Amino acid sequence: MKMISNSVKNELIRVVGAKNASFSREELVCYAYDATNKLSLPDAVVFPSTPEEISLVLKMANSEGFPVIPRGAGSGFSGGSVPVEGGVVVSFERMTKILEIDTENLVAVVEPGVVTWDLQQSVERLGLFYPPDPSSHRFSTIGGNIAECAGGPRAVKYGVTRDYVLGLEAVLPTGEIVTTGVRTAKGVVGYDLTKLFVGSEGTLGIVTKAVLKLLPLPEATKTMLATFPKMTEAAKAVSAIIRGKVIPSTLEIIDRVSLRCVEEYSKTGLPDVEAMLLIEVDGPKDSLERDCRTVEAICREHGGADFRVAEGKEEVKKLWEARRSISASLYRVKPNKINEDIVVPRSRIPELVEGLGKISAARGVLIASFGHAGDGNIHVNVMYDKKSAAEAAAAEAAVTDVFTLTLSLSGTISGEHGVGTAKQKYLEMELSPAAIEAMKRIKASFDPKGILNPGKIFPKAGAKTAAAGTKAPL
Ligand SMILES: Cc1cc2nc3c(=O)[nH]c(=O)nc-3n(C[C@H](O)[C@H](O)[C@H](O)COP(=O)(O)OP(=O)(O)OC[C@H]3O[C@@H](n4cnc5c(N)ncnc54)[C@H](O)[C@@H]3O)c2cc1C
Repeated sequence: MKMISNSVKNELIRVVGAKNASFSREELVCYAYDATNKLSLPDAVVFPSTPEEISLVLKMANSEGFPVIPRGAGSGFSGGSVPVEGGVVVSFERMTKILEIDTENLVAVVEPGVVTWDLQQSVERLGLFYPPDPSSHRFSTIGGNIAECAGGPRAVKYGVTRDYVLGLEAVLPTGEIVTTGVRTAKGVVGYDLTKLFVGSEGTLGIVTKAVLKLLPLPEATKTMLATFPKMTEAAKAVSAIIRGKVIPSTLEIIDRVSLRCVEEYSKTGLPDVEAMLLIEVDGPKDSLERDCRTVEAICREHGGADFRVAEGKEEVKKLWEARRSISASLYRVKPNKINEDIVVPRSRIPELVEGLGKISAARGVLIASFGHAGDGNIHVNVMYDKKSAAEAAAAEAAVTDVFTLTLSLSGTISGEHGVGTAKQKYLEMELSPAAIEAMKRIKASFDPKGILNPGKIFPKAGAKTAAAGTKAPL
């Protein structure tokens, strides 16, 4: 696509105001990357405050032929907000209002730039609960969470962002402003465009308002730690806990490498063991003691050595801060990592863990694993040093092995981070050519000129891709 002209720059300034458009290199660099650390400069960044302004920007993009890239906090792990073909980044830093919290109908209406944590705190003050909690919730935005269908530790009991989006206001790539969905518990009029937008990685429309479902805040929570001499034993305990009729609000698994790295960084007092489960149950106070006893019995049956209930709010806070820091702390062992967020059916986590050990040994790379074991979503981090060509090649090969293993276990190659640019070349391993073609037709019908977030999800024609069709039947 072509660079934007001076007349486009002037028109952008006219639409959003001179203070709300930037073309300086220093500022553009701040909008050129996400958590994948890939860098690609946009030509401009604009800070609109209304859907009408966004609509005008998109109409201009169609007539002038430049890309438009929606951007939340830039914390994505798949390159979704990186302007890989240049163009105009639309940032929501001026669209951060919580417009409404309806305590009667348990609904919140928010602008896309609201930080997830801010919404959670605001509703909690009213005794309500917005469960989706990506580990980035202190800085990621509701718009980014919707575009990626973010999950998090609480997904095991409460589901993912998709389960909480009742309706949306969005600007289509061609500039029309649409509302989708409902603000009621039910609604089946027409196709479900809301669900189509959720997880579409900013390629089908720009979300300008979201109607979100809330729940009553659980009365109480208990946090437990259980250690295991082997990852496979911890993994077996995960399924057993749910079979034992306890659905924890979080059920996280952490391996030795991850524990060691995060302990060095956070000094939380985490044990030096092969595997740890961090388990939380919530609900009415009087049911929690019973749940804790059931979880303890199951952990011990599965080889759990130490088991204890965390004491007091301060310890729980420290444990969760440590858990949320694992991803960043892993750089202590190697300067680079490939971070994948595969999911397998919960009962197959033990096979996954065993397979990861074999891949690590066969490829000679360190693999650190942790994550939301309760819903089968394990963050697999292949650690390497990109200065060594051999290590980089081994890491890349290990990732393909991990995906092959995941798909053979009826899993998926991404549970919550999305495809973006990071997983494009693996798309055909999971999706059939017919499914990919159907998705491309949807994209083309929304965005005939391909101006909204181009270069994402679908590999470019002729690009090198991993072997197709490794997924086991559903
Ligand atoms: C330390 C760390 C921990 C993380 N933990 C988790 C986790 O537990 N679970 C999880 O799911 N993810 C996690 N992530 C990934 C990331 O935080 C999420 O994907 C998050 O939803 C991205 O939000 P963002 O505001 O940063 O969006 P960005 O990264 O800016 O954008 C992500 C995508 O959303 C699109 N987008 C943004 N706003 C809009 C909008 N208004 N309309 C349309 N499209 C839009 C962008 O174009 C892009 O494709 C983590 C990231 C980090 C760095």
